[in-house]
Amino acid sequence: MTPPTRRKALHALVATAATAALAPVARAAAPLAGGSGLGVHRMKLGTFEVTTLLDGFIELPQAVLQGNPEVIQRALDAGRVIMPIRTAVNCFLVNTGSKLVMIDCGGAKMLGPTAGRMPQALAAAGLELGQVDEVYITHMHGDHLHGAVAPEGAKLFPNAVLRIAKADVDYWGSPAVEAAAPENQKGRFVAAKRAMAAYGDRLQPFELGAELVPGIRSVPAVGHTPGHSCYLVSSGNARLLLLGDTMHVGPVQFARPEITVMFDFSQDQARARRQELFEMAVKDDLLVGAVHLPFPGIGKLRTRDGGGYTYEPIAWQMY
Ligand SMILES: [Zn+2]
Repeated sequence: MTPPTRRKALHALVATAATAALAPVARAAAPLAGGSGLGVHRMKLGTFEVTTLLDGFIELPQAVLQGNPEVIQRALDAGRVIMPIRTAVNCFLVNTGSKLVMIDCGGAKMLGPTAGRMPQALAAAGLELGQVDEVYITHMHGDHLHGAVAPEGAKLFPNAVLRIAKADVDYWGSPAVEAAAPENQKGRFVAAKRAMAAYGDRLQPFELGAELVPGIRSVPAVGHTPGHSCYLVSSGNARLLLLGDTMHVGPVQFARPEITVMFDFSQDQARARRQELFEMAVKDDLLVGAVHLPFPGIGKLRTRDGGGYTYEPIAWQMY
């Protein structure tokens, strides 16, 4: 039997609980927060630090994929890809210890409301725009370059040089090329024009294949655009090949690298270079990273039974 004093205490407890249940709610339930956290992922690469900043995502219709329609459909089905194809927009920030280098800048708000978060992600990573020394762009399409320019047209990174392969600058910066482009393609020159105006002589074109700072080298990947450049980031034995737009739709183009996208300047060159770069990544056991891979956009490629490749994302690092 419960002793009387204990019984009393229990009654008191129950009474208190009942009162609390009946009393007006003193503290509201947590409101739904809305939105996602800012995408920041950091990893060590040798002595370097590589931070992926998530700019957001864009959506692509199935029609962007070019090639045998049955092959495309089978790859989409096997990858359980839903339409429209949602593709991440990642930016990669490399701290070599002496230079802070941003590689691709996302699309700002120029491509719609689902991208353009890179500046907030950079702030969440504890860095300021003025700390970025160099900005490397893989190619001058809007989802990689618009983010280098502030909404009002000034350069977003006040102290940075902007480095883009000369062949891309020559093409996208050419009034003659733009004048000759079909009317519905002229909008694709806007990013180049804004960036060139914003950076002026702080835009320093380079030859494909050049080493830009110790540990970061351009890797020619002409095909997607006339001056498309990948970047090989190396520190000691650790190597990361940033693939730019060598791929857009992973479940399709890893399994079937012969599938191209309608944005490829040269379908043949883009297809051939993708095969070579994927092969190189496997043979040399490189980490690969890409703007349009699911955040944080870094992993390894393996050869797939029956041809093609599979992509294995890295485990998240919390160093
Ligand atoms: Zn892209």
